Amino acid sequence: MGDKLEKQRKALVERLSDYKYIRGPNASKIRNAMLKVKREDFVLPEHRFRAYEDTPLPIPSDATISAPHMHAIYLSAIDLRSGDSVLEIGAGSGILLVYVKEVVGSKGEVVGVEIVSEVYRFAKNNLEKSGYDKKIKIILGDGSKGVDKKKFDKILISATCPEIPKPLIERLKAGGMIVAPVGDPYGSQELICLEKTRQGKTISRRLGSVVFVPLRGKHGWR
Ligand code: SAH
Repeated sequence: MGDKLEKQRKALVERLSDYKYIRGPNASKIRNAMLKVKREDFVLPEHRFRAYEDTPLPIPSDATISAPHMHAIYLSAIDLRSGDSVLEIGAGSGILLVYVKEVVGSKGEVVGVEIVSEVYRFAKNNLEKSGYDKKIKIILGDGSKGVDKKKFDKILISATCPEIPKPLIERLKAGGMIVAPVGDPYGSQELICLEKTRQGKTISRRLGSVVFVPLRGKHGWR
């Protein structure tokens, strides 16, 4: 089964490159991360054989691990630099944190927040299984409020928000970037890339339509 999954992983990453989901100056690092990380370790055992279908799959609670092309879109949009500090709100399976860690390297700091305790335990277990538990921090709690007063170079929001939460914009360093789905959980959602200039001004770009589970918590849909 291992060999078969490895072949499927290679074929999927090739397709994501051909279709330009993996793109930009980090393309080769993103490709290497997606070739190295075993998606089968981040899905439920009963879905292992479907790990390399380019589709979201159910994980505990009502959450999903996003489709591989969506991970590629996030990783290509967020302009990761080696040594970046990166926060993900909505860790889910934990896989995006691991891809990010591979791209930002040993000097980078990667932190995930997950609000549902069952999903938090799933993510923690997946990180242990894949050997990333000492390299990535996961926190159980409401990420819409930010993490302490700490600021990050990049913030990934993996659940759809009514608007990008202000506390998260405040916790973005100047020159930093947020990628987040914005819109109705049952209606239309758009992926937004928000950049904070060196002067502290924010500029937003639309990256296209997406489908995500709702952001909960104080600045979510409750
Ligand atoms: N990148 C993840 C996405 C998981 S789905 C993956 O591919 O596996 C989004 C997750 O966001 C869900 O697990 C949900 O429980 C979580 N979530 C929703 N609102 C949250 C909040 N306010 N703080 C932290 N996590 C939240």
